[in-house]
Amino acid sequence: MMSTMIKKTIRESIVNSSVYDVWYMRKIKKVIASGMDVPDIVRIEPTNICNAHCAMCPREKLIRPHGIMSQELFEKIARECRQLSIAKMLFSGFGEPLIDKNIVSKIKLARENGIKEITLFTNASLLDERIASDLVRSGVSAVIIRLDATTTEDFAKA
Ligand code: SF4
Repeated sequence: MMSTMIKKTIRESIVNSSVYDVWYMRKIKKVIASGMDVPDIVRIEPTNICNAHCAMCPREKLIRPHGIMSQELFEKIARECRQLSIAKMLFSGFGEPLIDKNIVSKIKLARENGIKEITLFTNASLLDERIASDLVRSGVSAVIIRLDATTTEDFAKA
């Protein structure tokens, strides 16, 4: 049986290949062509920077540049969401959203632009009393806390 490490290496080399990019772009075009041009949910990756090293996360293998989404770009996305009557937004992706100093104002902006259901995923490492109360006031609908491991052995690897 193929070891987990080999499977992981194969998966990473596929995801980082140009063939995968072409395949994924075709998949997106197919969805657009099918008439499903307005998404149900918009997923935002406010940053792909993270302060954790979860054993199961491929984030460090990704070759995209690291950064934080600018407020201007988010404002543009929020306006487009309003025009398309998007009702749900997720803040997640390959990074820790609370590293983005503007995350609370991005959530408020999403609310102001008609997004009714907003979910934030976090590893909670930066979640103190101040940010927690700012989040409560921001209009976020749910905060989902992700754990970096579920066993002592996996935690030691992280
Ligand atoms: S907190 Fe999330 S993005 Fe960061 S390393 Fe863990 S799984 Fe990856």
